[in-house]
Amino acid sequence: MPLRALARVDLGAISANCARLAALAPLCAVVKADGYGHGAVEAARAAQTGGAAWLAVATAGEAAELRAAGIGGPLLVMGALSPEELDMAVAAGADIVAWREELIAALAARARAPRASSPGDIGVHVKLDTGMGRLGTRDPDEATRVAELVAATPGLRLAGAMTHFATADDDPAFMAEQLGRFLPWADALASRHPGLIRHASNSAAALGNPIARLDMIRCGIAIYGMDPFHRDPAGRGLRPALELVSYVAEIKRARPGESAGYGRRFIAERDTWLATIPVGYGDGMPRGLTNRADVLVGGRRVPVAGTVSMDNITVDLGPGEPPPVGTEAVLLGARGGERILAEEWAAALGTINYEITCGITPRVPREYGAAPAAAGGR
Ligand SMILES: *Cc1c(COP(=O)(O)O)cnc(C)c1O
Repeated sequence: MPLRALARVDLGAISANCARLAALAPLCAVVKADGYGHGAVEAARAAQTGGAAWLAVATAGEAAELRAAGIGGPLLVMGALSPEELDMAVAAGADIVAWREELIAALAARARAPRASSPGDIGVHVKLDTGMGRLGTRDPDEATRVAELVAATPGLRLAGAMTHFATADDDPAFMAEQLGRFLPWADALASRHPGLIRHASNSAAALGNPIARLDMIRCGIAIYGMDPFHRDPAGRGLRPALELVSYVAEIKRARPGESAGYGRRFIAERDTWLATIPVGYGDGMPRGLTNRADVLVGGRRVPVAGTVSMDNITVDLGPGEPPPVGTEAVLLGARGGERILAEEWAAALGTINYEITCGITPRVPREYGAAPAAAGGR
């Protein structure tokens, strides 16, 4: 019998997506949040195989996890760091992001302390907030002072100048405004500090605006084969890397008026067959998909019937001869010309594909390899 729920991750797809992106500019593959749910360590290795020169994560703990698994190479921690987390990031030999002089003082003390695990200089990327309104300083003069302080501090290395776009997926005018604030500052800094990496682009910016690629692109969503513009990833030459599969655990007949699931939110209007598939919101299939998603059962697209519960869903197979118990059920993925994309769930839920794969819970084992032949040879 198959596993109740399994996330199959095609590492070849991640490598191929990275190769596609690395052809645009030097690639920093973003593997935060457990590689957007795909598995950070495996995704990082696949990204490096595909030509990613850098890796990035959000937290010090994520950096430590990659290093503990033996993953080398340049690594950037992009998030804010508490003093304890700063210690952990430095011990992992990761570069960090800074925008305040106080943090440089704290870093300088750490750079002077003997460090067995990562004896080299600590790389620092200075962040200018050009309009995202989260991390970084809005003041280019402060950003310059921080950068010059890094360059003048023994044990620290001024590695990068960065910013982050708020609207690369949907408002090119505001993105251009942000780029217009970033470039004069970053270019001036780079002219005084040759070798400094200017980087700004997430996946949407990297794919959508060649001018924003600069010295490095920081791509997350696209390396997993999801579309940063929320459309069909095939349109950008990207291959989805993850499929979520389960199986038919139970089949029963429903007569008109009989119901399935909590709250009786499916009531049969005709004689039909219902299949129970042992996957639910405890696995990362959001409850908001109640009566709003399809499943590929034996390769055939059938609707979810009723409430998504924690551990089970029911689907309406229709009145014809049902497939046997044990038949494969594909929640996300492609079979025989049909496919269900993370983008399809996201649209039904009013959210974005990022949240779909990040939401697949630890209860679902990840299996790594190549996926079975994709739909229609697309
Ligand atoms: C998450 C993140 C990225 C990657 O964004 P995608 O849209 O997934 O490509 C890039 N830069 C920063 C600062 C991030 O936090």
